[in-house]
Amino acid sequence: MADDDWRARASRMGRTTARLREGHMPDVQIWSIRVVRPTRDPCITCSDPLDTSTEAVEVFSVDGVRLLFHADCHDMWVAFRERANRHDPPA
Ligand SMILES: [Zn+2]
Repeated sequence: MADDDWRARASRMGRTTARLREGHMPDVQIWSIRVVRPTRDPCITCSDPLDTSTEAVEVFSVDGVRLLFHADCHDMWVAFRERANRHDPPA
């Protein structure tokens, strides 16, 4: 089973990475982040239901947009945003 978990997780990571690279994620100003119980709602990045993980992450933007992530997908989204924001403007 552990092997299947790993495969499912790797597949999810791949979809999340692709979605982030393609720029499909809304560019939101984060207002709040909290960890919530898993639900059947889909993760915004990989589209898998959120009950495949032990916890889900709920993000609200300042505009009131609600985004739900797997904890892993949220970590990747945060890292991706940080990388994007770190790009220096052309000299
Ligand atoms: Zn996900």
